[in-house]
Amino acid sequence: MSAVKDLVGPAVDRLADELDTLSRRIHEHPELGYQEVKAAGWLSEFLERQGFKMERGVAGVDTAFRGTLDTGDGPTIAILCEYDALPAIGHACGHNVIAAAGAGAGAALAAVRAQLPKGRIQVIGTPAEEGGGGKVKLIRGGVFEAVDVAMMIHGFDRWIMHQDLLGIVRCGFEFTGKAAHAAADPWEGVNALDAVIQTFNNVSMLRQQVRPEARIHGIVTSGGAAPNIIPEFAAATFYVRAADIDYMWALQKRVISCAEGAARATGCALKVIEQRDNAYEPMKRNATLLDAFRANARTLGIVESPESRERMGSSDIGNVSQVIPAIQPMVQIAPEGTPIHSRAFEAAAVEPLARDGLLKSAKIMAMTACDLLANPALVKEARREFEASR
Ligand SMILES: [Zn+2]
Ligand SMILES: [Zn+2]
Repeated sequence: MSAVKDLVGPAVDRLADELDTLSRRIHEHPELGYQEVKAAGWLSEFLERQGFKMERGVAGVDTAFRGTLDTGDGPTIAILCEYDALPAIGHACGHNVIAAAGAGAGAALAAVRAQLPKGRIQVIGTPAEEGGGGKVKLIRGGVFEAVDVAMMIHGFDRWIMHQDLLGIVRCGFEFTGKAAHAAADPWEGVNALDAVIQTFNNVSMLRQQVRPEARIHGIVTSGGAAPNIIPEFAAATFYVRAADIDYMWALQKRVISCAEGAARATGCALKVIEQRDNAYEPMKRNATLLDAFRANARTLGIVESPESRERMGSSDIGNVSQVIPAIQPMVQIAPEGTPIHSRAFEAAAVEPLARDGLLKSAKIMAMTACDLLANPALVKEARREFEASR
């Protein structure tokens, strides 16, 4: 077993420059969720060249893909790639590294396919993590039904094997009032912007009364046309996050009440745009898979940092972890102290530290996939743990 596992590291090293180039290319051409045509194309083309059988546009999602490497009857191990960017700040979440690391792990396994234990490796391209819920669509489309376990990595400012994720639900508020001249006839107007501002004030008061891990944050998406017109329309979008999914739904109700109260106070009509089918779920831990990943990380000399309960985000990998055993270790790709979704993180995502994180995580994922294929009992144990923690 160790023989084939020893071969995947050198296989990644042979592809190092190509993987780094792939990562830089994606970074240089940031594409928003569901518009990742270039990234999905480059990754599919790369994987095809390595010997993967490619399906483009899986589950009805144009920029999703699935590459399969089949060596016979055995477990199916999925390695997930993300490649969407953020509006305005590009690859400030480092998804270019996730993409190249996943493709690199797949390529290394393809390079040793003759020696691989029987099973299937799938490299799955999952679009629109930044709010669009690509993995939620792939789950609904049945993409994970035949998958036994899934893994991916995420860039961070340090190595952390498991990071809890908060559940998140998004919620839009549209207020409609009545336009009037703001100086000549203000008493004729109904101010929709006031309703938005009042909603923010209500939410700020609510925030003192919520659990410490919960997060409520919003932006104004429409705030009027000109200062001399009482705004007849204004809108805001809020994200509501909590560690517990039931608490998240309860909190969303309270945030909606904040908007309803604001509508009442200002005399505006309110339309609530709930995005219930696109909620992200908390991350379920799988110690079996994490231990396998950790053991391989240690062979590369990686020193992991303690888990953080203070810096929690949300991701649709959480939804995947609720349907099959899944892990998303955090990989250092930026100097310690660099916050994600920052311009500094965007700049770091193509620096030598990011290349190092990319190559190491590609190796660790490929080694972990070797362990899982060689030892189906490990896959069974991961599944047993998953079922037990339902
Ligand atoms: Zn992000
Ligand atoms: Zn991200």
